[in-house]
Amino acid sequence: MIKLAIYGKGGIGKSTVTSNLSAAFAMRGKKVIQIGCDPKADSTGNLLAGKPLMPVMNYLREHDEDPTSLGEITARGFGNVLCIETGGPTPGLGCAGRGIISTFNLLDDLRLLEKEKPDVVLFDVLGDVVCGGFAAPIREGYAEKVLIVTSGEKMALYAAGNINSAVLNFEDRGYASVEGIILNRRNVESEREKVETFARERGLRIVADIPRDRAFQTAEDQGRTIVELDPDGAIALRFFDLADRLLAEEASGSAAAEDGRRTGSGSVTAANGRGAETGRMEEAGGMTGGTDTPHGFGKLEDCGCPM
Ligand code: ADP
Ligand code: MG
Repeated sequence: MIKLAIYGKGGIGKSTVTSNLSAAFAMRGKKVIQIGCDPKADSTGNLLAGKPLMPVMNYLREHDEDPTSLGEITARGFGNVLCIETGGPTPGLGCAGRGIISTFNLLDDLRLLEKEKPDVVLFDVLGDVVCGGFAAPIREGYAEKVLIVTSGEKMALYAAGNINSAVLNFEDRGYASVEGIILNRRNVESEREKVETFARERGLRIVADIPRDRAFQTAEDQGRTIVELDPDGAIALRFFDLADRLLAEEASGSAAAEDGRRTGSGSVTAANGRGAETGRMEEAGGMTGGTDTPHGFGKLEDCGCPM
Protein backbone atom coordinates (compact mmCIF):
# COMPACT_ATOMS: atom_id res chain seq x y z
CA MET A 1 0.00 0.00 0.00
CA ILE A 2 1.30 3.44 -0.92
CA LYS A 3 0.61 5.99 1.83
CA LEU A 4 1.37 9.54 0.78
CA ALA A 5 0.95 12.89 2.48
CA ILE A 6 0.93 15.99 0.33
CA TYR A 7 1.93 19.14 2.23
CA GLY A 8 2.39 22.77 1.22
CA LYS A 9 1.43 26.35 1.87
CA GLY A 10 -2.28 27.24 1.69
CA GLY A 11 -3.41 27.97 -1.86
CA ILE A 12 -0.24 26.55 -3.45
CA GLY A 13 -2.15 23.81 -5.27
CA LYS A 14 -2.08 20.81 -2.92
CA SER A 15 -5.67 19.75 -3.52
CA THR A 16 -5.29 20.26 -7.25
CA VAL A 17 -2.15 18.12 -7.30
CA THR A 18 -3.57 15.50 -4.92
CA SER A 19 -6.83 15.03 -6.82
CA ASN A 20 -5.01 14.78 -10.16
CA LEU A 21 -2.62 12.25 -8.68
CA SER A 22 -5.54 10.26 -7.21
CA ALA A 23 -7.21 10.29 -10.63
CA ALA A 24 -3.96 9.10 -12.27
CA PHE A 25 -3.63 6.19 -9.80
CA ALA A 26 -7.31 5.34 -10.34
CA MET A 27 -6.85 5.32 -14.11
CA ARG A 28 -3.98 2.88 -13.60
CA GLY A 29 -6.56 0.57 -12.04
CA LYS A 30 -5.59 1.27 -8.43
CA LYS A 31 -7.98 1.49 -5.51
CA VAL A 32 -7.52 4.94 -4.02
CA ILE A 33 -8.58 6.81 -0.88
CA GLN A 34 -8.10 10.58 -0.71
CA ILE A 35 -8.38 12.20 2.71
CA GLY A 36 -8.55 15.99 2.80
CA CYS A 37 -7.00 17.24 6.07
CA ASP A 38 -7.57 20.96 5.60
CA PRO A 39 -10.31 22.86 7.44
CA LYS A 40 -11.30 24.24 3.99
CA ALA A 41 -12.70 20.75 3.26
CA ASP A 42 -12.33 21.26 -0.50
CA SER A 43 -9.71 18.61 -1.22
CA THR A 44 -11.90 16.16 -3.08
CA GLY A 45 -14.15 18.58 -4.99
CA ASN A 46 -12.42 17.87 -8.30
CA LEU A 47 -13.17 14.17 -7.92
CA LEU A 48 -16.81 14.60 -6.91
CA ALA A 49 -18.13 16.82 -9.70
CA GLY A 50 -19.66 19.19 -7.19
CA LYS A 51 -21.53 16.55 -5.18
CA PRO A 52 -21.54 17.62 -1.52
CA LEU A 53 -19.53 15.55 0.97
CA MET A 54 -20.15 15.86 4.71
CA PRO A 55 -16.82 16.66 6.42
CA VAL A 56 -16.22 14.44 9.43
CA MET A 57 -15.96 17.37 11.86
CA ASN A 58 -19.30 18.74 10.66
CA TYR A 59 -20.87 15.33 11.14
CA LEU A 60 -19.52 15.11 14.68
CA ARG A 61 -20.83 18.59 15.49
CA GLU A 62 -24.29 17.91 14.08
CA HIS A 63 -24.84 14.47 15.56
CA ASP A 64 -24.73 13.24 19.12
CA GLU A 65 -23.28 9.90 18.10
CA ASP A 66 -20.28 8.96 15.97
CA PRO A 67 -21.16 7.65 12.50
CA THR A 68 -21.63 3.89 12.52
CA SER A 69 -20.78 3.33 8.87
CA LEU A 70 -18.22 4.72 6.46
CA GLY A 71 -21.01 5.61 4.04
CA GLU A 72 -22.07 8.52 6.24
CA ILE A 73 -18.74 10.33 5.91
CA THR A 74 -17.37 9.17 2.55
CA ALA A 75 -18.30 9.52 -1.10
CA ARG A 76 -17.15 7.79 -4.27
CA GLY A 77 -15.65 10.07 -6.86
CA PHE A 78 -13.99 9.77 -10.26
CA GLY A 79 -12.36 6.37 -10.78
CA ASN A 80 -14.14 5.07 -7.69
CA VAL A 81 -11.77 7.08 -5.45
CA LEU A 82 -13.09 7.02 -1.89
CA CYS A 83 -13.23 10.64 -0.73
CA ILE A 84 -13.10 11.87 2.87
CA GLU A 85 -12.76 15.40 4.30
CA THR A 86 -11.81 15.97 7.92
CA GLY A 87 -13.20 19.51 7.86
CA GLY A 88 -12.39 21.76 10.79
CA PRO A 89 -13.74 23.34 13.95
CA THR A 90 -16.13 26.27 14.04
CA PRO A 91 -13.82 29.18 13.09
CA GLY A 92 -12.34 30.73 16.22
CA LEU A 93 -13.49 27.85 18.40
CA GLY A 94 -11.27 24.84 18.79
CA CYS A 95 -8.21 23.37 17.22
CA ALA A 96 -8.09 22.16 13.61
CA GLY A 97 -5.24 19.78 14.32
CA ARG A 98 -7.35 18.05 16.94
CA GLY A 99 -10.05 17.65 14.27
CA ILE A 100 -7.61 15.68 12.16
CA ILE A 101 -6.72 13.44 15.10
CA SER A 102 -10.40 12.81 15.99
CA THR A 103 -11.10 11.98 12.36
CA PHE A 104 -8.18 9.55 12.10
CA ASN A 105 -9.20 7.78 15.30
CA LEU A 106 -12.75 7.51 14.00
CA LEU A 107 -11.56 6.10 10.65
CA ASP A 108 -9.57 3.54 12.61
CA ASP A 109 -12.68 2.61 14.65
CA LEU A 110 -14.65 2.24 11.41
CA ARG A 111 -11.87 -0.03 10.08
CA LEU A 112 -11.44 2.01 6.92
CA LEU A 113 -8.30 0.33 5.60
CA GLU A 114 -9.42 -3.16 6.46
CA LYS A 115 -12.74 -2.71 4.67
CA GLU A 116 -11.54 -0.74 1.67
CA LYS A 117 -8.16 -2.47 1.19
CA PRO A 118 -6.78 0.43 -0.87
CA ASP A 119 -3.67 0.35 -3.04
CA VAL A 120 -3.03 4.04 -2.41
CA VAL A 121 -4.01 6.45 0.38
CA LEU A 122 -3.37 10.16 -0.13
CA PHE A 123 -3.57 12.73 2.67
CA ASP A 124 -3.94 16.33 1.50
CA VAL A 125 -2.64 18.44 4.38
CA LEU A 126 -2.27 22.16 5.05
CA GLY A 127 1.36 23.04 5.71
CA ASP A 128 1.26 26.61 7.03
CA VAL A 129 1.13 25.28 10.57
CA VAL A 130 2.74 21.98 11.37
CA CYS A 131 1.38 21.58 14.90
CA GLY A 132 0.92 18.17 16.51
CA GLY A 133 -2.41 17.75 14.77
CA PHE A 134 -1.28 18.70 11.30
CA ALA A 135 1.77 16.49 11.77
CA ALA A 136 -0.54 13.55 12.53
CA PRO A 137 -0.42 12.18 8.96
CA ILE A 138 3.36 11.83 9.16
CA ARG A 139 3.30 10.08 12.55
CA GLU A 140 2.02 6.78 13.82
CA GLY A 141 2.18 4.84 10.57
CA TYR A 142 -0.23 6.93 8.53
CA ALA A 143 1.72 8.29 5.56
CA GLU A 144 5.11 6.83 4.75
CA LYS A 145 6.08 9.29 2.06
CA VAL A 146 5.69 13.06 1.97
CA LEU A 147 5.44 15.15 -1.16
CA ILE A 148 5.90 18.88 -0.67
CA VAL A 149 4.15 21.18 -3.14
CA THR A 150 5.82 24.53 -3.71
CA SER A 151 6.29 27.24 -6.28
CA GLY A 152 9.37 29.45 -6.46
CA GLU A 153 7.67 32.06 -4.27
CA LYS A 154 9.37 32.95 -1.02
CA MET A 155 6.48 32.13 1.29
CA ALA A 156 5.79 28.82 -0.43
CA LEU A 157 9.44 27.84 -0.03
CA TYR A 158 9.39 28.99 3.58
CA ALA A 159 6.44 26.70 4.33
CA ALA A 160 8.14 23.90 2.39
CA GLY A 161 11.24 24.32 4.58
CA ASN A 162 9.13 24.08 7.75
CA ILE A 163 7.42 20.94 6.53
CA ASN A 164 10.75 19.34 5.68
CA SER A 165 12.02 20.17 9.20
CA ALA A 166 8.89 18.73 10.80
CA VAL A 167 9.30 15.48 8.85
CA LEU A 168 12.99 15.29 9.82
CA ASN A 169 12.00 15.69 13.48
CA PHE A 170 9.96 12.51 13.27
CA GLU A 171 12.04 10.61 10.74
CA ASP A 172 14.44 9.05 13.21
CA ARG A 173 11.49 7.24 14.76
CA GLY A 174 10.94 5.41 11.48
CA TYR A 175 7.96 7.50 10.45
CA ALA A 176 7.49 9.29 7.13
CA SER A 177 10.25 10.67 4.95
CA VAL A 178 10.18 13.30 2.24
CA GLU A 179 9.90 11.66 -1.16
CA GLY A 180 10.43 14.90 -3.05
CA ILE A 181 9.23 18.28 -4.15
CA ILE A 182 6.41 18.95 -6.57
CA LEU A 183 7.08 22.23 -8.31
CA ASN A 184 3.69 23.77 -9.06
CA ARG A 185 4.60 26.78 -11.09
CA ARG A 186 3.55 30.35 -10.45
CA ASN A 187 5.87 31.57 -13.17
CA VAL A 188 8.07 33.69 -10.92
CA GLU A 189 11.51 34.57 -12.25
CA SER A 190 14.06 31.73 -12.40
CA GLU A 191 11.50 29.52 -10.74
CA ARG A 192 13.03 26.13 -11.52
CA GLU A 193 16.48 27.32 -10.37
CA LYS A 194 15.10 28.67 -7.09
CA VAL A 195 13.30 25.45 -6.28
CA GLU A 196 16.25 23.33 -7.41
CA THR A 197 18.54 25.26 -5.07
CA PHE A 198 16.07 24.81 -2.23
CA ALA A 199 15.86 21.08 -2.92
CA ARG A 200 19.61 20.59 -3.33
CA GLU A 201 20.36 22.33 -0.03
CA ARG A 202 18.13 19.82 1.73
CA GLY A 203 19.16 16.75 -0.20
CA LEU A 204 15.75 16.57 -1.88
CA ARG A 205 14.74 16.18 -5.52
CA ILE A 206 12.02 17.62 -7.69
CA VAL A 207 9.76 14.70 -8.58
CA ALA A 208 7.26 16.60 -10.73
CA ASP A 209 7.15 19.95 -12.50
CA ILE A 210 3.59 21.15 -13.11
CA PRO A 211 3.06 24.13 -15.43
CA ARG A 212 0.83 27.03 -14.52
CA ASP A 213 -2.14 26.62 -16.84
CA ARG A 214 -5.66 27.96 -17.07
CA ALA A 215 -6.86 24.43 -17.80
CA PHE A 216 -6.73 23.80 -14.04
CA GLN A 217 -9.40 26.46 -13.47
CA THR A 218 -11.53 25.21 -16.36
CA ALA A 219 -11.42 21.71 -14.90
CA GLU A 220 -12.05 22.95 -11.37
CA ASP A 221 -15.14 24.88 -12.54
CA GLN A 222 -16.58 21.52 -13.60
CA GLY A 223 -15.50 19.76 -10.41
CA ARG A 224 -13.08 17.63 -12.42
CA THR A 225 -9.37 16.95 -12.72
CA ILE A 226 -7.30 17.54 -15.84
CA VAL A 227 -6.38 13.84 -15.68
CA GLU A 228 -10.05 13.00 -16.15
CA LEU A 229 -10.81 15.66 -18.77
CA ASP A 230 -7.68 15.36 -20.89
CA PRO A 231 -5.90 12.13 -19.96
CA ASP A 232 -3.71 12.20 -23.07
CA GLY A 233 -2.61 15.81 -22.64
CA ALA A 234 0.81 17.03 -21.55
CA ILE A 235 -0.34 18.04 -18.06
CA ALA A 236 -2.02 14.71 -17.29
CA LEU A 237 1.18 13.02 -18.41
CA ARG A 238 3.10 14.69 -15.57
CA PHE A 239 0.69 13.16 -13.06
CA PHE A 240 0.79 9.73 -14.71
CA ASP A 241 4.61 9.88 -14.66
CA LEU A 242 4.64 10.61 -10.95
CA ALA A 243 2.02 7.93 -10.19
CA ASP A 244 3.97 5.38 -12.25
CA ARG A 245 7.22 6.21 -10.51
CA LEU A 246 5.62 5.79 -7.08
CA LEU A 247 4.02 2.50 -8.15
CA ALA A 248 7.35 1.23 -9.48
CA GLU A 249 9.11 2.17 -6.22
CA GLU A 250 6.41 0.42 -4.23
CA ALA A 251 6.69 -2.68 -6.41
CA SER A 252 10.47 -2.85 -5.99
CA GLY A 253 10.08 -2.32 -2.23
CA SER A 254 7.56 -5.18 -2.04
CA ALA A 255 9.79 -7.42 -4.16
CA ALA A 256 12.72 -6.75 -1.81
CA ALA A 257 10.50 -7.53 1.16
CA GLU A 258 9.32 -10.73 -0.53
CA ASP A 259 12.97 -11.74 -1.16
CA GLY A 260 13.71 -11.10 2.49
CA ARG A 261 10.83 -13.35 3.54
CA ARG A 262 11.96 -16.13 1.21
CA THR A 263 15.58 -16.02 2.33
CA GLY A 264 14.64 -15.38 5.93
CA SER A 265 17.19 -12.60 5.98
CA GLY A 266 14.89 -10.36 7.93
CA SER A 267 15.18 -7.65 5.32
CA VAL A 268 11.43 -7.07 5.33
CA THR A 269 11.86 -4.31 7.81
CA ALA A 270 15.04 -3.05 6.19
CA ALA A 271 13.33 -2.90 2.82
CA ASN A 272 10.59 -0.60 3.94
CA GLY A 273 12.48 1.10 6.72
CA ARG A 274 9.52 0.66 9.01
CA GLY A 275 10.77 -2.05 11.32
CA ALA A 276 10.06 -0.25 14.55
CA GLU A 277 6.63 0.74 13.36
CA THR A 278 5.68 -2.77 12.30
CA GLY A 279 6.34 -4.06 15.77
CA ARG A 280 4.67 -1.14 17.46
CA MET A 281 1.52 -1.23 15.38
CA GLU A 282 1.02 -4.94 15.79
CA GLU A 283 1.60 -4.59 19.48
CA ALA A 284 -0.97 -1.83 19.58
CA GLY A 285 -3.47 -4.06 17.82
CA GLY A 286 -3.79 -1.49 15.04
CA MET A 287 -5.48 -2.17 11.75
CA THR A 288 -2.92 -4.57 10.38
CA GLY A 289 -3.47 -5.97 6.93
CA GLY A 290 -0.96 -8.83 7.13
CA THR A 291 1.55 -10.40 9.38
CA ASP A 292 4.44 -8.21 8.34
CA THR A 293 2.93 -5.30 6.49
CA PRO A 294 1.99 -2.32 8.60
CA HIS A 295 -1.38 -1.40 7.10
CA GLY A 296 -2.81 0.10 10.22
CA PHE A 297 -3.87 3.49 11.32
CA GLY A 298 -2.48 3.66 14.84
CA LYS A 299 -4.33 5.43 17.64
CA LEU A 300 -3.21 9.01 18.04
CA GLU A 301 -2.73 10.92 21.24
CA ASP A 302 -3.90 14.47 21.71
CA CYS A 303 -2.28 17.14 19.51
CA GLY A 304 -0.93 18.85 22.62
CA CYS A 305 -2.24 22.35 21.93
CA PRO A 306 -3.94 24.22 24.78
CA MET A 307 -7.24 25.00 22.99
P1 ADP B 1 -4.43 24.30 -1.81
O1 ADP B 1 -5.11 22.99 -1.74
O2 ADP B 1 -2.94 24.20 -1.67
O3 ADP B 1 -5.00 25.31 -0.86
P2 ADP B 1 -5.67 24.45 -4.41
O4 ADP B 1 -5.29 23.15 -4.98
O5 ADP B 1 -7.07 24.61 -3.90
O6 ADP B 1 -4.65 24.90 -3.28
O7 ADP B 1 -5.34 25.56 -5.52
C1 ADP B 1 -5.65 26.91 -5.34
C2 ADP B 1 -6.09 27.49 -6.69
O8 ADP B 1 -4.99 27.48 -7.60
C3 ADP B 1 -7.20 26.68 -7.34
O9 ADP B 1 -8.15 27.56 -7.87
C4 ADP B 1 -6.49 25.89 -8.42
O10 ADP B 1 -7.32 25.64 -9.54
C5 ADP B 1 -5.35 26.83 -8.80
N1 ADP B 1 -4.17 26.11 -9.30
C6 ADP B 1 -3.47 25.16 -8.65
N2 ADP B 1 -2.44 24.73 -9.41
C7 ADP B 1 -2.49 25.44 -10.57
C8 ADP B 1 -1.67 25.48 -11.76
N3 ADP B 1 -0.61 24.70 -11.90
N4 ADP B 1 -2.03 26.32 -12.74
C9 ADP B 1 -3.10 27.14 -12.59
N5 ADP B 1 -3.89 27.15 -11.50
C10 ADP B 1 -3.59 26.32 -10.49
MG1 MG C 1 -6.59 22.36 -0.50
